[in-house]
Amino acid sequence: MKRVLYLVIACTVAGSVGGCSLFGSWWGPKRAAWRSKAENACLSSGAVVPGPDVRPMGEWDGPGACGADRPFKVSAVGRSQKVPLNKTTDLNCPMVAAVDDWLERIVQPRAMEQFGQPVVGVEHMGSYSCRSIAGRRQMSEHAYMNAIDVSGFKLADGRTVRVRSGWRSADASEANFLRAVGGAACEQFTTVLGPGSDAAHQDHLHFDLARHSKGRRVCKGGDEPVPDGGRMFSFFKDRSVETTGSIAPRNGAGGGALEDGWFSEDEIEE
Ligand SMILES: [Zn+2]
Repeated sequence: MKRVLYLVIACTVAGSVGGCSLFGSWWGPKRAAWRSKAENACLSSGAVVPGPDVRPMGEWDGPGACGADRPFKVSAVGRSQKVPLNKTTDLNCPMVAAVDDWLERIVQPRAMEQFGQPVVGVEHMGSYSCRSIAGRRQMSEHAYMNAIDVSGFKLADGRTVRVRSGWRSADASEANFLRAVGGAACEQFTTVLGPGSDAAHQDHLHFDLARHSKGRRVCKGGDEPVPDGGRMFSFFKDRSVETTGSIAPRNGAGGGALEDGWFSEDEIEE
């Protein structure tokens, strides 16, 4: 009996960090109710149209609370023009819609401004990962297919603008472009973290749709001076933006008590 108890305790602990799939799906931590509601609202809105590049993959449940109800396997992003990802990735519906909008409304216009050509490919370092935030007990939004780490942009002429090399590049157009697409991403996502936020984000822009307290958004990453001839984008500092669109308010159904995904605006997600 004792052994069973130890197993149960061990699996409860392991399940919370993604280690015990045997129990995780039906017993143990559950995804917060707002996550299903956000997915359902997105699916019924028609914001994501399934196709060869956006394939429904069915429920992904566990280990622990990890996964999503009806996520997609995504190999290209964008709206009027689909742009391939460097590798297929798993995202929930609200993230697919947000990435599509970000590419269409923010990335492509800025690419035309800075480089006179469109982005034809997006490089990322991953989306789904059943894990907690580094150094914290709280689960990462990556655990819910509710985050993506974008590391580079391939331009039509074959050049690739990467966060790692471009952020502090002597080429002001690269530095400005990356700050612009990161800063304006605060309109589409609730968390945006870039190289100015901490050591863990030197080579990518982290985007997610976490629910922060009071409907705030966390946008950190771009305080460094832009090289000569460049332009400083002040909006990629900490700031809060009014909640809009499909992002439900905190006090909506499913809100209230501290659920996973809620954290104060000064905490950061990786
Ligand atoms: Zn990330």
